[in-house]
Amino acid sequence: MTKVNFYDSIDDSKLKFAVIIAKHNGKWVFCKHRERSTWEVPGGHREQGEDILETAKRELYEETGAINFEINPICIYSVTAPDNFDGKETFGKLFFAEIHTFEKDLHSEIEKIAIMNELPLNWTYPEIQPRLLEEARQRGFLPKKDEIKWLFFDVGSTLVDESRVYEDRMKKIAELSGITPQQIYENAISLYRRNKKGDLEIAKQLGIELPKWESQYEKLYTDSEDCLKGLSRNYEIGIIANQPLGTSERLENLGVRKYIDLIIASAEEGVSKPDRRIFEIALERSRCRPENAVMIGDRIDNDIVPAKQLGMKTIWIKQGFGSLWTVMDESEKADIEVNNLSDILNYL
Ligand SMILES: [Mg+2]
Repeated sequence: MTKVNFYDSIDDSKLKFAVIIAKHNGKWVFCKHRERSTWEVPGGHREQGEDILETAKRELYEETGAINFEINPICIYSVTAPDNFDGKETFGKLFFAEIHTFEKDLHSEIEKIAIMNELPLNWTYPEIQPRLLEEARQRGFLPKKDEIKWLFFDVGSTLVDESRVYEDRMKKIAELSGITPQQIYENAISLYRRNKKGDLEIAKQLGIELPKWESQYEKLYTDSEDCLKGLSRNYEIGIIANQPLGTSERLENLGVRKYIDLIIASAEEGVSKPDRRIFEIALERSRCRPENAVMIGDRIDNDIVPAKQLGMKTIWIKQGFGSLWTVMDESEKADIEVNNLSDILNYL
């Protein structure tokens, strides 16, 4: 049986190997030797008199062709196996490298390198290298696999396309005021760009009552269902939304209620976004810590700012009028910006 142990430090003369977990643009860098069909983390033997960091840099270059990179030590590892150095414990140093550039041609020793999204299935050292990666993860060098547990979605203009409802509202404002719908629309857009609620402001300016929200014109975005279905396999799905009573039924009618584990809607809770309490209720009821949760919404003021203040991760989905928001400072900056729901699958 192969045993892998980890240490914070050890007598330098005992270090015989350097292994380098490497990433490039957020993806893994693995290599494959000519003689093997399996993948491995770059690394190799320390040469006589060589500093172990130099070994790591040399091996990374020789095995991947990396010429521009940052490299940092993670810890010491050891391997004890009956078929390895007569069963003696052997030591190596584990490093993490962020590779910026590779040289054009690979060296003879390496057949090829792969830049992968996922970890390989066929490892050269299946009993050792996955353990090294896990240790690096535990020591905070790699993102934790289980870091994100809950995804909280807004509803309007996030899962549900409201463009026809807004169209209807603008048309009615136009009818009531005698201004063309086109003009109303353009005014609204310029207001939204200045981070104001366009339809509300226009109605106020014209001295007319804001026409009723005709929710029968709401429909799912074409990718909402697939997106929720896919994500619900890996995450708990929640809703945090400013909605009139009956959000659960409406989502049921739209066919997506079954993918959703928790609904926190303003009418039922008696508190609405951007009040942080509605987010706190959601976190409390899901028993999720803010750092394990992501808020996904179209509105910077209602969705991103309060969630970010609480320490949740944030994804700004730039759909509907919310996409016109002008980000003013760091507090309004989402961790990730996407143009539609499908694009969040690239990050989660
Ligand atoms: Mg919304």
